[in-house]
Amino acid sequence: MTDSAVIALDVGGTGMKCALVGPDGKVHYAERHPTQAARGPEAVTANILDVAAGLADRARAAGLDPVACGVVVPGVVDEESGVAVWSSNVGFRDVPVRALVAERLGVPAALGHDVRAGGMAEARLGAARDQRHVLFMAIGTGIAAAHVVDGRAFAGAHGAAGEVGHVIVRPGGPECGCGVRGCLESVASASAIGRRYAELSGLAQATAFDVAARAAAGEPLATAVWTDAVEALADGLLTAQALYDAGVIVLGGGLAEAGEALLAPLRTALDQRITFHRMPQLVRAALGDTAGCLGAALLALDSLS
Ligand SMILES: [Zn+2]
Repeated sequence: MTDSAVIALDVGGTGMKCALVGPDGKVHYAERHPTQAARGPEAVTANILDVAAGLADRARAAGLDPVACGVVVPGVVDEESGVAVWSSNVGFRDVPVRALVAERLGVPAALGHDVRAGGMAEARLGAARDQRHVLFMAIGTGIAAAHVVDGRAFAGAHGAAGEVGHVIVRPGGPECGCGVRGCLESVASASAIGRRYAELSGLAQATAFDVAARAAAGEPLATAVWTDAVEALADGLLTAQALYDAGVIVLGGGLAEAGEALLAPLRTALDQRITFHRMPQLVRAALGDTAGCLGAALLALDSLS
């Protein structure tokens, strides 16, 4: 009997992470490609279809039967209709990705949202395995979250749930990409932390990683910027906890690479704010930047059951 595998693609603004994954979540093969978003949405779609078809061929060549395909993208995604509604960094507007993939490959396909899929993967295969109520928060250039209960992520009525990055934590604060002032991601995303430190220090540029390292070395300005960001994150998480009552909050994305330098002060700051809510566990994501791709595989596997 031929073993089966699903084809999984996590399509981001700059790159695509792709894999062949077995029914048990085992990764048989992985590859990465540039998204080439600058070439426009039609070219990106054609690229996705070619890469998926190439993976199907590779599966067959390895004696695996490609039985389904899962694709995840950022932005607003209608998972029920399989349409990428809006994604500025990939250039998608109402692209019926699921139908296009199913037609090209001749197998069932699923379309999902990158952060929700990543949260599903962390909940089922990663840092929150065996936890029922999970909030996954990805902190990178922006901040987005996924509420996962019993391994299923909730998309909301319009495919736009989990935008914790746009909870206002500093009214009148820095202007956010969404046009409002003081959103969590305008203060505490990895990009915002680096930008703030560069502004105050007079450096041409700085990354959140530089700020974490300088704060760990005891530099007062870096410590102040880092502490401000941690306090803002704690304010955002307090709101999230009031809404979701998570058992565990999994922090992923680039900023989580700081590990305990982020988690330890964040636990303290959240604990100080907690009143009637219950304190969740705060842990670092376990799957790194492969979470979205593994989540795409889970969506493909789920589409078969
Ligand atoms: Zn915003």
